[in-house]
Amino acid sequence: MRHKGYLYLTAIFIVMAFVIGIGHGEEPRWFKGNTHTHSLWSDGNDFPEMIASFYKREGYHFLVLSDHNVLSRGEKWMSVRDVEKRRRTLGHSTLKKYLAAFGETWVQLRGEGAAQQVRLRTLEELRPKFDEPGKFLFIEGEEITNSFRGLPVHTNAMNLGEIIKPEKGASLRETMRSCLLAAKAQEERLGRLILAHLNHPNFGWGITAEDLAHVIEEQFFEVYNGHPGVRHLGDAKHPGVEKMWDIANTIRLSSLGADPLYGIASDDSHHYHGGDVKPGRGWIMVRAASLSADDIVQAMRKGDFYSSSGISLEQLDRDQDKGTLKFRIKGEAGEKYTTRIIGTRRDQHTNPEKVGEVLASFTGTSVSYSLKENELYFRAEITSDKAHPLPSFAGQKKEAWIQPIWAKPAKKE
Ligand SMILES: [Zn+2]
Ligand SMILES: [Zn+2]
Repeated sequence: MRHKGYLYLTAIFIVMAFVIGIGHGEEPRWFKGNTHTHSLWSDGNDFPEMIASFYKREGYHFLVLSDHNVLSRGEKWMSVRDVEKRRRTLGHSTLKKYLAAFGETWVQLRGEGAAQQVRLRTLEELRPKFDEPGKFLFIEGEEITNSFRGLPVHTNAMNLGEIIKPEKGASLRETMRSCLLAAKAQEERLGRLILAHLNHPNFGWGITAEDLAHVIEEQFFEVYNGHPGVRHLGDAKHPGVEKMWDIANTIRLSSLGADPLYGIASDDSHHYHGGDVKPGRGWIMVRAASLSADDIVQAMRKGDFYSSSGISLEQLDRDQDKGTLKFRIKGEAGEKYTTRIIGTRRDQHTNPEKVGEVLASFTGTSVSYSLKENELYFRAEITSDKAHPLPSFAGQKKEAWIQPIWAKPAKKE
């Protein structure tokens, strides 16, 4: 009898544990991250430790060091003179700052005078210094830096196990696709989730909204990139990047039977001693089961993230199945917010004036909207009346972008 009582208690305990959530893992949490960062491993101007220290200090949970066609692996020595030349502004030497922060036992130098060299630490060497469960994680990445007939095709890949070499295709779209297929092939071969996103489409006027639409393997693109050279606003002949998002999603939903793109905000930071290409301008907030690369990628694929250049949300309920969106902005003192619900109506998809029109507008911090019968999709864009503290283009305000909700396309026969 005593034995039976013990079994009952155990059974009750197991049931209770499930009810209160033990054994189910943690409740999903929000994690802040930057998916696009350059260091001395390619054309950035600081050591990866210095860059990671900045992001960790600023409250980021994950960071993807995404250098051009290189992973932070292997033995790489750089001339100290070249390191110092990368600094665009006067001030303390890059090496001196590195030495002051990490000390002589960590910093590896060889040679003297003009021939002096410094070794770049690998990501594996950095991890024990920075990675902390639930607090900070490096996700290994690369900016696959490709081109087609001089037009840039840059794709970031995160959670890589191996480098991806850029392969040219027979057309621009095939070149875009080749990076995605390479990421997919590696994902299957190595059994890890790899997320790829198309970067700064207007950089070098490389990629049009139509290209973005037709490469349907592309699930993510940068709706905001903090590099001032990426032509975020477009020009008289080219739509801005946000408009491109609407054009591409409208084509996908009205004509291709494909799901829309999700928009990522990133820094594409290169300069860490002043200069134009600063860190801290754009990021994503991902709601994931844990701070692991697989969980982050999985949440992003479900659209469980938003992009920001300065606005945070307190609550976000985005339900693609029900077609509803409800959220609350974390208001800051003295700041006013406008949310524009942007989308395209079914009967207007061929009218360029009405592709990505404002379907509704809200002021204040609480917003709720649901997909209407005649809408292909909608997305929410929040703008503060306060200027971005580190603007990458003239007149930039703090913003946030919420992923689209769409009507499931009718099956094409
Ligand atoms: Zn790039
Ligand atoms: Zn870049």
